[in-house]
Amino acid sequence: MITGKNYIGAAQSATGSKTYKTFDPKLNLETEWTFTEATAEEIDNAVSEASSAFKLYSATSATEKANFLRVIAQEIEALGDTLIQTYMKESGLPEGRAKGERGRTMGQLNAFAALLEEGSWVDATIDTAQPNREPMPKVDLRKMLVPIGPIVVFGSSNFPFAFSTAGGDTASALAAGCPVIVKSHPMHAATGEMVASAVLRAVEKSGMPNGVFSNLNSSGIEVGQQLVMHPKVKGVGFTGSIKGGTALYRLANQRDEPIPVFAEMGSINPVIALPSALTEKGDDWAKNYAGSITLGAGQFCTNPGLILGIKSSSLDNFIKVLGTSIEELEPFCMLHPNIYNGFENGKKELSSQGGVDVVAEYSAEAAPNYAKQKVLTVNGANFLKNTKLHQEVFGPFSVVVRCEDATQLAEIIEKLEGQLTGTILGSKEEISSHSAIVTALQGRVGRIIFNGVPTGVEVCPSMHHGGPFPASTDSRFTSVGTSAIKRWVRPVAFQNWPQEALPAALKNDNPLGINRLVDSKFTYDKI
Ligand code: NAP
Repeated sequence: MITGKNYIGAAQSATGSKTYKTFDPKLNLETEWTFTEATAEEIDNAVSEASSAFKLYSATSATEKANFLRVIAQEIEALGDTLIQTYMKESGLPEGRAKGERGRTMGQLNAFAALLEEGSWVDATIDTAQPNREPMPKVDLRKMLVPIGPIVVFGSSNFPFAFSTAGGDTASALAAGCPVIVKSHPMHAATGEMVASAVLRAVEKSGMPNGVFSNLNSSGIEVGQQLVMHPKVKGVGFTGSIKGGTALYRLANQRDEPIPVFAEMGSINPVIALPSALTEKGDDWAKNYAGSITLGAGQFCTNPGLILGIKSSSLDNFIKVLGTSIEELEPFCMLHPNIYNGFENGKKELSSQGGVDVVAEYSAEAAPNYAKQKVLTVNGANFLKNTKLHQEVFGPFSVVVRCEDATQLAEIIEKLEGQLTGTILGSKEEISSHSAIVTALQGRVGRIIFNGVPTGVEVCPSMHHGGPFPASTDSRFTSVGTSAIKRWVRPVAFQNWPQEALPAALKNDNPLGINRLVDSKFTYDKI
């Protein structure tokens, strides 16, 4: 049952007077549920409980935490079809996507559980003492990663499961040993509440401390601001707009004690179509990209919003086929009227820029909140001088740039803001014959793709989902894959510390059986 209340640890609370409802974009109607926004006191209670829980939770064993994560996954699955139907109602996304995303969310929780059970992720590094070293003896030094404290997670609008309540940010922070306070996304607060109830059942079943997880409602920026400013909060995970992410990043840096904000924000994910891709497979790539641009109504952070090629008849043909293919596709329901309106405004703004031509726009009637896909084209010089054209339009939209030559193409890439992904379409030989372009692209992105589409983010240890600002606020870290845990930890070095008082990961006899860097050699051996 949806209560519309805030979950402060195990307690439910709704003392505030500000309420809001979620929206069914397919029916174009508000849902039946009403949510009460968290008050300043409820926010303080949730953070204080998290801070108390941190002392106990950070000391629980890896096995206990792994069990907790696995039970969360089971409890989410146990919510069954009611959860799937709630997700679909609040997002307009289809059943296949809902089930796939639920599977991904459970897979992420289980992957972090396996990471904890294996244990080597703590980066145990040991340099044994050399008492006889000349001219000075060397001390015994042992370093490992430890959790930083309570984390605030801002659920994203476009992944109600995988980047929200029990999504990648929450799973990685809980795995690291950090309690989590979720600032529920107002577009899918019922989905969020159901998942929160599953997490809280898992807290109880696996004997975790109360306060290790809370879920707060909010429909405006105040709750998030108060959470980020709370002195007991030690880190923030965010997925959403550049405007929202940078505002929170700045706020966190104004605190007496600044804290890290890991914000994954907008990206236009440039795609470079090198000459052979256009001459040999131009039609195929055009059809493929029509699918990638419109996938999930273009509501993906890896959506290809920019395609760059060198002017030629084969580029003209690619643009023509892309245009006809994209016009043939049926529009898709967007997540919320606000997202739909943002898409319409973005399309309008970019279409009105100088030198821009429309390649294609879906023109038939469509139901309310259904995105009409659009593709524009512009020449390289106009694109270079007008940075408005470099902006993300969140939805099924892309700009194809006809560059004068390879030099102009490389110059454009160098002038782009940081991106999550960049794609090269071409032959293996062109990677070396167009090295200036490839090198420029690698300098602007977090993931570089060869002959593929950027949509579809594999969840695995080698994934990097983050890029130079403003794609993310810290390009050294990923929000997808098990390396995401590294955002919520810091190294601590123990100098000349007695064996019995060292954490298990650093003891001589390696009781956890983990891989460690001992005197500069990786080993599972005891010392
Ligand atoms: P958003 O406006 O960035 O909001 C995301 C979350 O941050 C919301 O919970 C919002 O709270 C909060 N927030 C925003 N600005 C804030 C501020 N100044 N202070 C405190 N909290 C703040 O994004 P959205 O509403 O989820 O989606 C809108 C746009 O974000 C899309 O059109 C798209 O451009 C972008 N987006 C990008 C990605 C991506 O993966 N890169 C994903 C989703 C969305 P309230 O809603 O309660 O105000």
